[in-house]
Amino acid sequence: MDYAKAFSQALQNLKDEGRYRVFADIRRNRGLFPAARQFMPDGSRAITVWCSNDYLGMAQHPAVLAAMHEALDTAGAGSGGTRNISGTSHYHVELEAELADLHGKEAALVFTSAYVANDTTLATLQRLLPGSVIFSDEKNHASMIAGIRHGGGDKRIWRNNDLKDLEAKLRQVGCDVPKIIAFESIYSMDGLMAPIAGICDLAEKYNALTYLDEVHAVGMYGARGGGLAERDGVMQRVDIINGTLAKGFGIMGGYIAASADLCDAIRSYAPGFIFTTSLAPAIAAGAVASIRHLKTSQAERELHQERARTLKSRLKASGLPVMDNPSHIVPVLVGDPVLCKRITDALLDRFAIYVQPINYPTVPRGTERLRLTPTPQHSDADIDRLVAALRALWTEMGMPFEGQQAQAAE
Ligand code: PLP
Repeated sequence: MDYAKAFSQALQNLKDEGRYRVFADIRRNRGLFPAARQFMPDGSRAITVWCSNDYLGMAQHPAVLAAMHEALDTAGAGSGGTRNISGTSHYHVELEAELADLHGKEAALVFTSAYVANDTTLATLQRLLPGSVIFSDEKNHASMIAGIRHGGGDKRIWRNNDLKDLEAKLRQVGCDVPKIIAFESIYSMDGLMAPIAGICDLAEKYNALTYLDEVHAVGMYGARGGGLAERDGVMQRVDIINGTLAKGFGIMGGYIAASADLCDAIRSYAPGFIFTTSLAPAIAAGAVASIRHLKTSQAERELHQERARTLKSRLKASGLPVMDNPSHIVPVLVGDPVLCKRITDALLDRFAIYVQPINYPTVPRGTERLRLTPTPQHSDADIDRLVAALRALWTEMGMPFEGQQAQAAE
């Protein structure tokens, strides 16, 4: 086996397809986000970030930073162990209580990321419920797919947000078979929202557990930032809610919130919870501050929605192909990986605007896109600059504007 050749060939394949990933080396400027500095071999320069999942800018919120500084000075840097072996600090206990309260559940359990939370919880649920069948939405995130695979049980994939298809698949499985319906509230690449109440109706009818990934909604939807299930008044009907501390809350880490016994069972059986060092105390303390702030403050949520609406309408008015959706996510369709990368390279090199191309396998081939993430901190001037740059590149690269497509079809 020529090992070196195998690796270089694998990389070449990605390059040939136009989906080899290049990281931008940036440092965000605290207090000035979405401004950041990009580092290059010959120096650094100012750029504007348009692809951050720090959706509300909480990573620079004074209350969050103060809590993190305080915890760092009080408890030191690391947690010192796994949760079981000296890694459960008072900060972790407080964080789990805060999260349980946020989602109106008896308990919550914190993991090092929402990826790990999804992976290990879904795998462990299948072991705790022998013979169970998982009904997984076709657009579920890679972390849920990984967990479902690791569980090794039976699974059925249902069409995205399609209640009829879900019901048809539930009906095929016997009444006594344990069932788990796994889905997301906001699908992060399209911005589409799940019919949570309708899914809960089916779960009740067919006696299934519901597992809801609210990663792209927590902090941002609902009167206290509890997510889409809170906004829709159905939080109590969802059995297990998964969330992240990394996006709306601006830090890092993930969690589930559910009944006390379910959380205790996952705590006791899930390898991804047991066999890894817990989050640093300062991270847990910052997360508590962020969640508490967003439980009472509506300002960030309201401005975030307003910025997303404004950006979408400005792009549409310019004929740029925004993919319609009711959420804060702003996808602009390109449909080709090479072109997508060429556009994002030009945005960064020539306009100092940082957007990453979204390619397969994150989205299906042929639906490559830009995924813009407006935040409360993006100004009208930032939006104007972005729209003007995109218009210039669309024209330069001979890409169709929406009005033109409609005219051509007439
Ligand atoms: N679930 C969904 C739907 C996601 O989009 C992501 C990350 O982007 C995750 C889970 C993982 O979250 P984390 O970054 O906390 O691991």
